[in-house]
Amino acid sequence: ESLVNKIAAGEIIHRPASALKELIENSLDAKATSIRITVKDGGMKLLQIQDNGTGIRKTDLPILAERFTTSKLQSFSDLSSLQTFGFRGEALASISHVAHLSVTTKTKSESCAWKAYYLDGSLTPAKPGQSSDPKPCAGNTGTTITAEDLFYNTPTRLAALRNSNEEYHRILDVVTRYAVHNPAVSFVCKKAGSSGTDISTPSNSTVSQAINLLYGATVARDLLHTKFSSEGPDDMDVDESERKEGYWKADAHFTGTNYHAKKLVFLLFINHRLVESQYPPKGLESIRLPQESIGSFVDVNVHPTKREVHFLDEEVIVEKVADAIQKELAGQGKSRTFQ
Ligand code: ADP
Ligand code: MG
Repeated sequence: ESLVNKIAAGEIIHRPASALKELIENSLDAKATSIRITVKDGGMKLLQIQDNGTGIRKTDLPILAERFTTSKLQSFSDLSSLQTFGFRGEALASISHVAHLSVTTKTKSESCAWKAYYLDGSLTPAKPGQSSDPKPCAGNTGTTITAEDLFYNTPTRLAALRNSNEEYHRILDVVTRYAVHNPAVSFVCKKAGSSGTDISTPSNSTVSQAINLLYGATVARDLLHTKFSSEGPDDMDVDESERKEGYWKADAHFTGTNYHAKKLVFLLFINHRLVESQYPPKGLESIRLPQESIGSFVDVNVHPTKREVHFLDEEVIVEKVADAIQKELAGQGKSRTFQ
């Protein structure tokens, strides 16, 4: 296994919650309406995500975890719109370099599901000596991705993640945020072997219902919401097919000035990708958008000649987010509280 791959994998997958974020986005991309997550030992032992999305064709399984394998890039000219997704074809590849990865999947047109195991980007046998070909099995349409023994081959990183409660907490946080942002989708998150669930949202919900359920009525009452895009606040509900180069839209939910709890809520999505940021303190100047979150990252190995499409304007986004929030808090914005 090459060192380069291992390092690249570590840059994308910092911890169980960052792997989960990628997997949730894949399920959403596959149009899932139900996403069920099972976690063992803070995700270090087991991170499993089951969806009812489109599934993966059997013929795609052999190359699924190869680096830069993606079904989301149809042509070279799609590259610029794709930058909004952050990683093109790197998530599963990365996970296969730092965990034992298996995929069970069935498309609507296939008569049974197929299960495949991956190691370092390639199909691998379930057990030594067996064939590495995908095996037929029972299953519904959709995909189950299982990552086991995360960071088994990078002991330093594993050692840094000793606290499985904290990792589980981060996982719940990621699920909560995606559940709020995607209220039409049912999210379930539980610990393996436990009969109860820690998060369970219905499908076909609304943002305010999801916030109510996940954060409680007090927060739901106080939460402000603002959306805007690089084309101005009136052009907000831009369909995915209309994504274009350099285009971005932001969605922020945040607790307003009436809410005096210890933990303030601040959810920020840019191009539907969760941006990890602290609740903005007074000046708001400290909102930092990590590169990976806004998806401005393009590996030059993909298309070395296309450097110029790599960058969304991080500074502009930060400025607009801060500006919008300030307006909302001053009561001049267009946002609304949820009733
Ligand atoms: P990307 O999302 O950038 O394409 P990933 O490594 O995350 O790269 O996924 C690689 C490919 O695997 C995707 O393009 C998609 O075709 C397929 N895939 C991954 N997860 C799912 C899923 N849950 N349902 C359907 N297809 C999936
Ligand atoms: Mg992906």
